[in-house]
Amino acid sequence: QRAVAHATLGKVLAKVAAGETREVLTGYADYAAYREGGGYALLQACVAGRHEVEQVIGTLEGSGLRGLGGAGFPLGRKWRIVRAEAGPRLMAVNIDEGEPGTFKDRVYLERDPHRFLEGALIAAWAVGIEAIYIYLRDEYHGCRAMLEAELDKLRADPPVADMPPIYLRRGAGAYICGEESAMIESIEGKRGMPRLRPPYVAQVGLFGRPTLEHNFESLHWVREILERGADWFAGHGRNGRRGLRSFSVSGRVREPGVKLAPAGITIDELIEEYCGGMQEGHSFYAYLPGGASGGILPASMGNIPLDFDTLQPYGCFIGSAAVVVLSNQDSAVAAARNTLAFFKDESCGQCTPCRNGTAKALDLVRQPVWDTVLLGELSQVMRDASICGLGQAAPNPFDCVIKYFPHELQNCVVKP
Ligand code: SF4
Repeated sequence: QRAVAHATLGKVLAKVAAGETREVLTGYADYAAYREGGGYALLQACVAGRHEVEQVIGTLEGSGLRGLGGAGFPLGRKWRIVRAEAGPRLMAVNIDEGEPGTFKDRVYLERDPHRFLEGALIAAWAVGIEAIYIYLRDEYHGCRAMLEAELDKLRADPPVADMPPIYLRRGAGAYICGEESAMIESIEGKRGMPRLRPPYVAQVGLFGRPTLEHNFESLHWVREILERGADWFAGHGRNGRRGLRSFSVSGRVREPGVKLAPAGITIDELIEEYCGGMQEGHSFYAYLPGGASGGILPASMGNIPLDFDTLQPYGCFIGSAAVVVLSNQDSAVAAARNTLAFFKDESCGQCTPCRNGTAKALDLVRQPVWDTVLLGELSQVMRDASICGLGQAAPNPFDCVIKYFPHELQNCVVKP
């Protein structure tokens, strides 16, 4: 298997070297189609003074829209904070999408690229932004070519005068560059390492200027919420939660993919109502509610509302809503080993608790018998002393195994 994998990788690398892997995206709403569908009319109305900044920000606040990259910071409040800082102000749009299991941004971008661009330009108008930097995951070759072409069309026929310049920057495959301050370092041409905060990027961000940083999907919803009203977005939701969430569902379900579902839906409901149930021959065993970093929960806890803040009491979080469904043919221990190996590789190495902690934890979880006391101490140090979320969240998967899957440890039921 390893030889076959190496041979396949060799062929892929040869194609990359020959420039043969550039995808050509088709079937998306290009600039002309987007404008025909009423696109950029809202931006024009804003710039022409037919909407007030206060009204626009108020609507977004009323909708409950939060940062959909994982942090969940209220979008309207962020606009107010950056707007209150002295100019010049800049904007950074995060399309690095590196959390394992997350692919929602790519799906939306590949179909409707101008929707987030209009959202970004409306934000620029409301907050007073002088330039927009888009940071795109380098593995998204097709998206890059498409976005370059669509940005050229937008610049050639701008819907409004004095449109701020929009720059497209390529990432280079580092998971940590999805962290907002590391992304900013990377855009500035430096090694992508998270900054110590404060100061926050809203105050001292890109090139030392106050910076409005947003995940792609947060901006994707701006136009629709402003056109349909705050209640349209806030009116969705289940189990006491408000809004819509784009779940990237993968794993043992019959129909994986991006599922636009009410915030607060449970995994049981998501699997049955949106994913066609489990695959033939698989029964629901466990799930990762928030990609590699959001922890692992057993199927018996499948009735927890999936949203920001609802999973914290269980040592988990939803993050960017990357849901991975495991079956009776998988094991939580194997998932924890896999995610920890990922974090060890992707640690930027800047701080000791994360750099050495991920390596040490990986050694420990690869043992046939886990030293749960030592792992518990290591977890505490990593959470308390790591600079950024990578090191703070890296213990989540093995902490969850110790807490929720003790039977796997006791019986050494560790499937490969
Ligand atoms: Fe880098 Fe890890 Fe420290 Fe974050 S926690 S700054 S990824 S070493």
